[in-house]
Amino acid sequence: MKSYRKELWFEIPTRREFRNITPQVRQCLQESGIQEGLMLVNAMHITASVYINDNESGLIQDYENWLEELAPHAPISQYQHNRTGEDNGDAHLKRQIMGREVVVAVTEGKLDFGPWEQIFYAEFDGRRRKRVLVKIIGE
Ligand code: ZN
Repeated sequence: MKSYRKELWFEIPTRREFRNITPQVRQCLQESGIQEGLMLVNAMHITASVYINDNESGLIQDYENWLEELAPHAPISQYQHNRTGEDNGDAHLKRQIMGREVVVAVTEGKLDFGPWEQIFYAEFDGRRRKRVLVKIIGE
């Protein structure tokens, strides 16, 4: 069995952003040379998510609005978490909803997606360097 591991680094200049990382992940699969197996992609931080959905700007704005309704950033004093002196209580909750990781089947050297599926990195507390782990195992 082959095994491949890579960390993708991001430094998002704003607090929140949704970024389609499918091209970088495809590049990883190419580098791995794996034809049949599984790929795991996970955010390595507790205030960012990796998820799969449609690459559509309206949908990304809908996520942004929905998450701000569920867990508004401000006022930061509404979160017990922020009593530590941090201001990212909302980012922890947004990450919980949007998830930590995705697993994608690798078939004939390609990501075996359903129609319209793309992989996204969702940043909820940016303006610093953060990582996504890509792990691929197979033959
Ligand atoms: Zn925190």
